[in-house]
Amino acid sequence: MKGFNYYQPTEIRFGRGRVGEIGEVVSQYGKRCLIVTVPPFSEIEPMFNQVKDSLGNSGVEFAHFDKVIPNPTTEIVSKGAELAKAHDADVVLGLGGGSSMDSAKAIAVEATHEGTAWDYLFFRDTQPTEKTLPVITITTTSGTGSHVTQVAVVTNPEEKCKSAIYNSIVYPKVSIVDPELMLTVPEHITASTGFDVFAHAFESYINPNGSPYTDIMALEAIRLTAKNLPAAVNNGSALDARTQMAWADTLAGLCIANSGVTLPHGIGMAIGGKYPHVMHGEALAVVYPAIMRYSYQHALEKFATVGRLFDNKLNQIDDNEAAERSCDVIQDFIKDIGMLTSFEDLKIPKEELKVLAEASLVLPDYKNHPKVATLDEVFKLLKQSCRL
Ligand code: NAD
Repeated sequence: MKGFNYYQPTEIRFGRGRVGEIGEVVSQYGKRCLIVTVPPFSEIEPMFNQVKDSLGNSGVEFAHFDKVIPNPTTEIVSKGAELAKAHDADVVLGLGGGSSMDSAKAIAVEATHEGTAWDYLFFRDTQPTEKTLPVITITTTSGTGSHVTQVAVVTNPEEKCKSAIYNSIVYPKVSIVDPELMLTVPEHITASTGFDVFAHAFESYINPNGSPYTDIMALEAIRLTAKNLPAAVNNGSALDARTQMAWADTLAGLCIANSGVTLPHGIGMAIGGKYPHVMHGEALAVVYPAIMRYSYQHALEKFATVGRLFDNKLNQIDDNEAAERSCDVIQDFIKDIGMLTSFEDLKIPKEELKVLAEASLVLPDYKNHPKVATLDEVFKLLKQSCRL
């Protein structure tokens, strides 16, 4: 067995009703908290109020930055950091999906360092330091896994580019995963965020940086997603399916924090940077069918294993055939959860595919794919994703 490292500093508090512990949790790290969320709307406002009540009861003074947008921008992060400084915050609470949690992490960096969060991306010489404010998260989608990762994804609209802070200092100190908070996630967002869970687990499993430790979690996350995501999409109030998806999200997040992602995420990040109206999960689902078919021969056993978690009839055929069939099985799954789309549907212009292909190879993730794609091959994959 090959050697490996595994690191995870976040305390995970998982279970129904655990959001009520947030005041006690935050008060261990500070007395002046910045809450970071999207603007309130009727479905999520009660959750915001519950969190504020709990903070207040624990003697935590809070300011609320409620300007986060999906695919959060550098400008949003700067506004949040200004409020953190004005409030003299000593702890930041990200409450929401990946966009809110990542904004909280980036704000924790920008509020305590020279320049902006964009100056501290993973490839820069200067990295965030111990001055970074402690981050606590409460995830409300299942999800990005951001509640257990060292990653904060930010979009720079001027550069039309999505990139990330990647540093252990932004791991949340504590994350609350309360499946009851996910009951209000609408059908399409359930499907899109749930597909991201599958993509994280799958790309960790086929990643050369994976380990026996992450493989166990990745396969369990895939099994849980195959079984529970359709139920959560079809019936948003199915608490058991929501709970299983919250657990799958957490497992898949622990995987990417230690193994990373591959080509689909490289392309998905490029799509998100150039076309911020496209949700992260949509950007992945649209390219997955073509990428699966392009890749399966380069990791036959693993594709076969994943295919069999979705369809046990694949147990009756050999790995070669099962790996090939896994491509259809995943495409059928994407269709079942209502995520089978094309670039045309997502309003990604065909004329810009060359530039999009180049942007897809900027982040290093694609180098960990079982077959390392050339620019021409990525261009071809993008063309195959244009129409259904
Ligand atoms: P999101 O945070 O953008 O949320 C999507 C929508 O869902 C928002 O409009 C929000 O208002 C709504 N929503 C969230 N929770 C809800 C609830 N409980 N009820 C009703 N509506 C709710 O979506 P996301 O997919 O969770 O996050 C995407 C972002 O996360 C992207 O920027 C992506 O790149 C990033 N990401 C980060 C990591 C990481 O490790 N940090 C990993 C993957 C993706």
